[in-house]
Amino acid sequence: DGRESQNQHESGTKSKIVVVGAGPVGALAAIYAAERGFEVEVYELRNDLRDPSTTPLNFTRSINLALSERGINSLRASGRDGLLERIMADTIPMRGRMIHGKKASGSIYEEAQDYDIHGRTIFAVDRGGLNKHLLDELESMPNVKIFFNHKLVGANFADNKAWLETKSPAGETQEIEITFDLLIGADGAHSATRYHLMKYTRMDYRQEYIDTLWCEFTITPKANPTSTSKHAISPNHLHIWPGSDRMFIAIPSLDGSFTCTLFLPSGEFSCLATDPSTIPAFFNASFPGVTALIPPASLIAQFEANPHLPLISLTCSPYHFRASAVILGDAAHAMVPFYGQGMNAGLEDVRVLFDLLPPSITPTPESLDRYTALRAPDAAAIGALALANYVEMREGVVSPLYKLRKRLEET
Ligand code: FAD
Repeated sequence: DGRESQNQHESGTKSKIVVVGAGPVGALAAIYAAERGFEVEVYELRNDLRDPSTTPLNFTRSINLALSERGINSLRASGRDGLLERIMADTIPMRGRMIHGKKASGSIYEEAQDYDIHGRTIFAVDRGGLNKHLLDELESMPNVKIFFNHKLVGANFADNKAWLETKSPAGETQEIEITFDLLIGADGAHSATRYHLMKYTRMDYRQEYIDTLWCEFTITPKANPTSTSKHAISPNHLHIWPGSDRMFIAIPSLDGSFTCTLFLPSGEFSCLATDPSTIPAFFNASFPGVTALIPPASLIAQFEANPHLPLISLTCSPYHFRASAVILGDAAHAMVPFYGQGMNAGLEDVRVLFDLLPPSITPTPESLDRYTALRAPDAAAIGALALANYVEMREGVVSPLYKLRKRLEET
């Protein structure tokens, strides 16, 4: 039927873990598995993001993320010398929020709010850069094989088999069959692994799109950088322009630019798209000071060029079937980004999973039962906090009376 058999597991060989998806979570899961001595194969839908001819992985996705202790701890616990240090060398500490607004007098203000009284920070990181470090590390491990341009299209988790679509050297689509002891699905919010897993286990699944879209903008580095500053605004803060049903944020990059995100109800996106000439006035009214950082013509151009993307929140359980498959990261619990924890929680999944798996031997159903029991409620809680934090970030940060007023309204 055109399917080629590949990577057959022979008795007596090491247990084989297949990882589907080489995003940040899949790449870290593969590192953990290889470090534990498993034979590891990684299958990634897209081309190698380190290949300069590849369309940037994040062109339509968030470029800069907030990396926090949850994720850092999981990178540290990978057991790989120097990996965390190499990743952290490419990050920028953010000590707090910088709230931007306009006083009643009309003057523009900035107000810094530290995250921690001891000065501990979160870190701005380029998601593609983080992913590259993880892939470089993976490639240096002898018991890992990475296959790019391979798409999971089918799985039989009762017989530990899966099918992937790829292109032959002649450019023809072909399907290959693989076997595994454990398949880890880290293939993102629209996970094919999850889809197939649902046929084998009584998985409860819930997804929700919130009525907010997001669009990315860039603040360019200072035109005349000084030796101490190339960023147009403080590089050590996560900048927020709050609004009752909208928000604009900016996260620093090492090159002096900021990656910004506009969050806005979908209806308002449509209004702006209908008449883009209104975009600068909209920004002046909603996010005072932004047009001084992104000139009006550039604001319009970026709004028109960059995609307007939805935000999905999903929960499911169980995450696994027997000892043959488990889903991690966005595949198991994609969440809205307002808590800055989607990737961090996914990286933490990896640490928690490998803490529960018996070292170097075939995973047991009991270890995966424990994983779902421990992790699904935690991930659902972070997802719920992320939804709740949208209200906090866009509104609560400007009004100390906000929560009190809300509570009074509710009683
Ligand atoms: P992904 O990054 O989606 O990777 C999945 C991989 O699987 C991809 O490489 C894909 O090509 C591959 N794949 C898909 N289907 C298949 C298939 N069938 N076969 C083989 N491979 C496949 N998180 C934070 O922690 N902090 C933040 O500040 C933050 N900010 C965010 C801001 C925005 C606007 C958004 C949208 C998200 C943000 N996140 C943040 C969330 C973060 O981006 C995700 O949680 C994280 O990327 C999930 O990683 P992942 O590896 O699970 O999935």
